[in-house]
Amino acid sequence: PLVAGVVAVQGDVEEHADAIERAARTRGREVVVREIRESGIVPECDLLAMPGGESTTISRLLHSEGIAPEIVAHVEAGKPLLATCAGLIVASSDAGDDRVDELELVGVSVERNAFGRQKDSFEAPLSVDGLADDEPYPAVFIRAPAIEDVGDAEVLASWDGRPVAVRDGPVVGTSFHPELTPDSRIHGLTFFENEAASAPASDDPGQ
Ligand code: GLN
Repeated sequence: PLVAGVVAVQGDVEEHADAIERAARTRGREVVVREIRESGIVPECDLLAMPGGESTTISRLLHSEGIAPEIVAHVEAGKPLLATCAGLIVASSDAGDDRVDELELVGVSVERNAFGRQKDSFEAPLSVDGLADDEPYPAVFIRAPAIEDVGDAEVLASWDGRPVAVRDGPVVGTSFHPELTPDSRIHGLTFFENEAASAPASDDPGQ
């Protein structure tokens, strides 16, 4: 079976584990899920999820536990990572907050808690590029970051005129929480249908 790692230093871990298992099951794939609280596990993982939670805490623990460089190596090897909400903030190139030491895995800048107090939590039907069908994706936003500068990343979905899902090579980042709904299409897209993550890189655009 594939080994799926869920970063578990802080945040909503169980929900990601469930979503990965559901996404795998609907595709007839077998996965075992490992929770990552210390170094040494990420190198055994084929795919990784970095959950929401509190980004300054997640950042601090990833660095103090020596997990941060392992996640960077995972992505450099072309293996898929789904980074959601606080996970996206940590994976970004610029979190706009000194307390976050960004992993620079997605070339975007983000603004924490950007959707405003009155809308701290809401659900929105999103049109997401690359999903298997055209059904809107029920996206749950909880004190979500906005994606500001997308750089070279590909925008997969926007809400209220702002990008809220991006892909950068093997990494998919979302402002919202795809693990909190029964719809596992974002996990499927990231882990089982991401050609950038499974195909060897080629400099030749003709290939
Ligand atoms: N507001 C949180 C942060 O900035 C992220 C919220 C979440 O992950 N649900 O870290």
